[in-house]
Amino acid sequence: MTTELHHYVGGQNTKGRSGRFGDVFNPTTGELAAKVPLATKAETEAAIANAQDAAEGWANTSPITRARVMFKFKQLIEDNIDELAVMLSNEHGKVVSDAKGSIIRGLEVVEFACGIPHLLKGEFSDGVSSGIDMYSMRRPLGVVAGITPFNFPAMVPMWMFTVAIACGNTFVLKPSEKDPSVPLRLAELMIEAGAPAGVLNVVNGDKESVDTLLTDPRVKAISFVGSTPIAQYVYATAAAHGKRVQAMGGAKNHMIVLPDADMDQAADALIGAGYGSAGERCMAVSVAVPVGDDTAEALLERLKPRVESLKVGPSTDPESEMGPLVTKQHLDKVRGYIDLGVEEGADLVVDGRDFKAQGYEDGFFVGGCLFDKVTSDMRIYKEEIFGPVLSMVRAPNFDEALRLPNDHEYGNGVAIFTRDGDAAREFAYKAEIGMVGINVPIPVPLAFHSFGGWKSSAFGDHNQHGPDGVRFYTKLKTVTSRWPTGIRSGAEFIMPTHK
Ligand code: NAD
Repeated sequence: MTTELHHYVGGQNTKGRSGRFGDVFNPTTGELAAKVPLATKAETEAAIANAQDAAEGWANTSPITRARVMFKFKQLIEDNIDELAVMLSNEHGKVVSDAKGSIIRGLEVVEFACGIPHLLKGEFSDGVSSGIDMYSMRRPLGVVAGITPFNFPAMVPMWMFTVAIACGNTFVLKPSEKDPSVPLRLAELMIEAGAPAGVLNVVNGDKESVDTLLTDPRVKAISFVGSTPIAQYVYATAAAHGKRVQAMGGAKNHMIVLPDADMDQAADALIGAGYGSAGERCMAVSVAVPVGDDTAEALLERLKPRVESLKVGPSTDPESEMGPLVTKQHLDKVRGYIDLGVEEGADLVVDGRDFKAQGYEDGFFVGGCLFDKVTSDMRIYKEEIFGPVLSMVRAPNFDEALRLPNDHEYGNGVAIFTRDGDAAREFAYKAEIGMVGINVPIPVPLAFHSFGGWKSSAFGDHNQHGPDGVRFYTKLKTVTSRWPTGIRSGAEFIMPTHK
């Protein structure tokens, strides 16, 4: 029997009333696993109203009390991590160990949020003028909302709601309708950790609920992570409705390999970063850029057998290195791109299109694919494929290798593999990309730094988590005070200046 999922509002599971549902699949078997209700405008407004009711009390709860909830939440995630990882793997298709790793990266943001009393400390200047002190404080915004993608159903919501709630806001999360069970469970754990009902609400839905969040005047800020066209729409719509917005979009991440690099290390990095999570990561490496034909050949020699022998199988099998893609629709899209690459004249060195997992023939599997001789005018280079497809674009020299990511529409992550410190430093300075790795293929900043790309990979001024997360979810107030009040200088009509 197919499970019917729910929303989580005001500290309770609430049944969907729209009569509209999205399908949640088990990608390994291809079976329909659950139906997720798609909220109406009114249902979304009810979630906003619950968050609004909880907002004042939570904003006035001391930072240390809010931190204690985060400590408890951290403990609850640790206690439940195995259950959460399997649940995530069953709906997303990434292997359980990888699912667990992604939860741990989210957990690190919880740990960061545990330090909120320190993070919210304002600035103070005493005696800026006669009897005058000046100090700043960071106040919460009120009700804020997050809209998240399918590929990280635990980590990306945790990037957002942990920092927002620790800062004293209340939150409405609209997770991906493709794998909503983990976000629902996280919300239960947050309330179990001691957050009052209404502090974290989950409303499942599609464009109707997203549009309600983007336009409702009670919602003060929108954090979005997903594809670029939707990020642009979210950014423009929410900003036009007077909200603070951060909207992260798609990616095409290059890894440059200079001739002096350790080729074994570079090949290992390309395999992990290209095919881990079946390429469904916004920081996946999808373009390898060897500098010089000798480098290209040295890499190909190592990559080809590794891609051919990738262990692709059920996401819950501990032997699997790579599971299926999230949906049949996404599988068709990825296969379509591989066909397109062949039509465009790229050299398909490893063809995973016909891969079938034995006993799971209806699963959404595709084998690893490797293209060589991809050029920058091809669509498979310009567009995000979001699958286990690595394209090799050969560059004749360093300048050309740097030009490729710099000219690309996206600017999320980039990496360079080399033993030459000079070249690496120049690359890090000149790359028009938000996150740069030097001999690190997936340079995702840790929780106490901020995550965000450039160009069409991110819209808005503030990145996710770290110091930018705290800035995004708070507004700055600066107080100028004079004590004692006994000092009188009479009415002054000129602009106050320091005397
Ligand atoms: P998506 O854009 O399809 O969906 C993201 C969210 O937007 C979901 O909650 C979805 O319900 C909602 N949505 C979809 N269509 C909408 C519409 N027309 N109007 C309003 N809301 C809509 O993205 P996805 O397929 O779930 O996730 C994959 C994408 O996310 C990839 O492009 C990937 O690169 C990107 N991503 C980026 C980052 C980053 O930090 N830059 C991180 C993870 C994923």
